[in-house]
Formats: sequence, C-alpha cells, structure tokens
Amino acid sequence: MNYPLVCDKSKAFHLEINGKSAGRDFLLIAGPCSVESEAQITECARIAHEAGADILRGGVFKPRESPYSFQGLGFEGLKMLHGAAKMYQLPIVSEVVDTRDVEKMAQYCDILQIGARNMQNYALLTEAAKSQRIILLKRGMNATIEEFLGAAEYIALAGNEKIILCERGIACRDSQTRNCLDLASVPVLKSLTHLPVFVDPSHATGRRDLIEPMSLAAVMCGADGLEIEVHPEPDKALSDAAQQLGEEAFRRISKKIRACVSFRDQSRI
Ligand code: PEP
Ligand code: MN
Repeated sequence: MNYPLVCDKSKAFHLEINGKSAGRDFLLIAGPCSVESEAQITECARIAHEAGADILRGGVFKPRESPYSFQGLGFEGLKMLHGAAKMYQLPIVSEVVDTRDVEKMAQYCDILQIGARNMQNYALLTEAAKSQRIILLKRGMNATIEEFLGAAEYIALAGNEKIILCERGIACRDSQTRNCLDLASVPVLKSLTHLPVFVDPSHATGRRDLIEPMSLAAVMCGADGLEIEVHPEPDKALSDAAQQLGEEAFRRISKKIRACVSFRDQSRI
C-alpha cells in the first residue's frame, strides 16, 4: 500500500475540535439522521448536549436509495442545524453530496462528512478537501480497507490532512442487519494509519437494539469516536427510524460508552 500521506505512523496526530482533540480524546457524535424541523433539531441538540456528546450531526442533503424518499431540507435545514448547535455550543458535522455545495456547507459546518456512497467520488473528495474543514470520511459499503485509505489519500493530496476515518459497515448477504460491521477494520486501520478511526454503529446495523453492544465493542477495539443517530421521536423519523435512539436510551448508552472508554484507557499499559 503506497499512501504516504495518510499512512505515516511517525506523525503525532491530533485534530482540535472544540477544545478536544480527535485521536487523543474520545469523541461522541450524536444527532438525527436528517434535520426535519427547527423544533426537532433543537431537541436533538439539547439531548446531545445533556448526554455529553461532543459534536452534533444532522443530514440536510440525504443520499436516499429511492428518489421518492425524504431528500433532506437542504440549506434551510443547515441553518436550523447551525442555530441549534450554537444554542448548546456544539460543533457540527453534516454530509456534503455535491461539489457545488461544498463552499456553502463549509461556512456552517466544522466537519464535512463524505458518505459511504461517495467514498470514491474523487471530484467531491478533492473539492471538500479544499475547504480546509475537517473531513469525516465514511467507508464505502463495498470498499476494501486499501480502497478506503486510497480515498483518504486523495483528500490529503488535495492539501488537507485533517481527516477522520469512519467504519460504517460493509455490504453482506445477511438481512438481519443493514450492513456487516467490520470491527476488525478498526485495529487494522490503526496499525496502518495515524488518522483517527471512528465507528458508526447506526448505519452499520440499522437496528437500535444493536447500538449499545456494537458501540461498546467498537470502544474496546480501539475506536477514537462514535457517530450515533439520535432523534426525540425515533419512530416518527423521516429517515432511518429503526436505528435511531430516543433520549433515554441515548443517555444510558452514552454513560456506558464513557465508562467503557475509561476502563479501556486505564487498562492500557
Ligand atoms: C449518514 O451518516 O447520514 C449516512 C448516510 O451514512 P452512510 O454514508 O454511512 O450510509
Ligand atoms: Mn441515517
């Protein structure tokens, strides 16, 4: 594998985000699959803040399989996300799906997410890189670890090494879960690259009952952070209803995650 920019273990690497540092401090990203209204995203921001999340997520441009499904609120939603995050002093991550939107998205977002479906959209990777925002790069559902790192190298080569990798499951034959969460990729990636590695148990499993066990497992595998979908009324969500956590469940799980991180970090020699 010849990706010198993203596979440089000699680099001491930390990404400053709101007083914390990705790669050194464990970071918890929480928020809805989609921004649906001002009231909904404000509630999400409150829940995320009160449960101790570090970053607020919310999709405003949704890459949906069906063109008839909810596509997101676009820039109107982005303004709502920005307002809600400001209220609770949370940094924002949101997905960019189009090169033409990068500049405007970057005005509002601390982190730009490149989704699984766009991991190999090299024009988008390059354009997003130029914004100089931190890039949260999701693993494509059919991507090998080498292809994943190749995509990250595109971003780095375009002049932006502020990259977080995010494992979100790969396609599999089984229909019990939405994808197959490849947790082995976490220690494998961490042996190859100095970049922080996060895990998204929500899109990996598609099931809210699996968020807790997979989050705790991800922590013990060495994940530097988690991205979890949270919604004030998960069953009424306009996208990904089955996998989003409600307030009570998220509070409980986020406490367990923090306890698990302390246990992991204390048991490191
Ligand atoms: C998301 O995080 O909103 C999303 C669509 O995830 P993925 O690209 O991993 O499917
Ligand atoms: Mn989603």
